Amino acid sequence: MNFFIVHAHAEPQSFNGALTYQAREVLEAVGHEVIVSDLYAMQFDPVSDRRNFTSQKDPDYFKQQVEESHATEVDGFALDIKAELEKLEWCDVLIFQFPLWWFGLPAILKGWVDRVFVMGRIYGGGKWYDNGVFQGKKAMLSLTTGGPRTMYSEIGLNGDIHSILFPINHGILRFVGFDVLPPFIVWGASRIGDERRQAYLKEYQQRLLTIPQTPAIAYPSLADFDENFQLKPSALESD
Ligand SMILES: Cc1cc2nc3c(=O)[nH]c(=O)nc-3n(C[C@H](O)[C@H](O)[C@H](O)COP(=O)(O)OP(=O)(O)OC[C@H]3O[C@@H](n4cnc5c(N)ncnc54)[C@H](O)[C@@H]3O)c2cc1C
Repeated sequence: MNFFIVHAHAEPQSFNGALTYQAREVLEAVGHEVIVSDLYAMQFDPVSDRRNFTSQKDPDYFKQQVEESHATEVDGFALDIKAELEKLEWCDVLIFQFPLWWFGLPAILKGWVDRVFVMGRIYGGGKWYDNGVFQGKKAMLSLTTGGPRTMYSEIGLNGDIHSILFPINHGILRFVGFDVLPPFIVWGASRIGDERRQAYLKEYQQRLLTIPQTPAIAYPSLADFDENFQLKPSALESD
């Protein structure tokens, strides 16, 4: 399988760095192909504007999605976006590796999504959710937190981690059609000590090697929604 890891940490010696380093080793050892976009090392520019394009649909008024649809038609994406699009379309499994920042993605990774998940080529015109471009492919978040697991339970101070990750898992990855696997989370990465971190690395190996058999998070399908994009009574009943 082809794995694409989008890695968002500025320090190669960080635990995030260790997780990505190990992922590459373990996956390649069993014959998978791995590409890593190390966003800080690449000095990836997360700012989205006219520099995303070599083409121009409307020179008087910049509307990103209009320009993306146009660039899709005329092959008008800037080289850095083009390169990421090719990796994205090449992969069978997409992994985001990142430290949780302000309950979300670090800006460099959010900016990568803003610039690379383009209208036309990646979504739009009925291509979304189960009809998405990446249907049949898998995606997974691998993240570290500062806070402990208990802080992210349903009754925890910070709230349920799955609600926190919903905008990424559902709003980004599922939106473009991926089957989204449960996240791999290292809780309190800086506080837990070397022994526990070593154990997490072993757990991550197992998660990576069992990706083909891992069931995706169950989201309702498009067919479960009515013309107002609300769950049909029949779908509510089956819950
Ligand atoms: C802007 C910002 C916002 C944040 N927002 C949040 C938030 O909303 N919620 C939250 O919970 N936290 C938050 N944090 C904290 C952040 O999530 C954690 O600091 C981060 O997840 C820790 O991961 P790391 O890779 O940076 O750890 P590091 O501190 O880089 O690494 C932890 C330890 O692992 C060691 N290590 C490295 N490699 C290995 C190895 N192979 N084996 C064993 N040990 C190793 C390192 O030497 C280090 O001692 C925020 C931090 C910032 C800067």
